[in-house]
Amino acid sequence: MNYEQLLDRAFTELPTLSVEKVDFQIPEADSLIQGSKTVVKNIAQIADKARRSKDDIAKYLTKELAAPISMSGSSLDINAKVSGAALNQKIKAYFEAYVICKECHKPDTHFGGRDRGYVTIVCEACGARYTIKSY
Ligand SMILES: [Zn+2]
Repeated sequence: MNYEQLLDRAFTELPTLSVEKVDFQIPEADSLIQGSKTVVKNIAQIADKARRSKDDIAKYLTKELAAPISMSGSSLDINAKVSGAALNQKIKAYFEAYVICKECHKPDTHFGGRDRGYVTIVCEACGARYTIKSY
């Protein structure tokens, strides 16, 4: 087989990209600063997309932003001034560490349990199971 033929073969054997993977978008926070606090209005959508509870996300942000957080109705109140960019960076980091499977990069995961500061991530798409430091 010559080089051209090899190249042809390589192309035809490329796996088709998963549409799901390409389409998944990490949600952005819809937030605004009110006085000395920051209100995240779409916490429910973010939690939905992550398939985690609002409390889970709140707990993570409390630790990452080192600020008290409370739930008020459908929004999340952070007791500090946080810019939209800083908040989105944290949310992106959350999805990358705790939502998107490190094996297949799909967001179809759930927590399998927590133990001594570690959380188990279970992927429903590829069956991967791994532990990472909890928050
Ligand atoms: Zn996976």
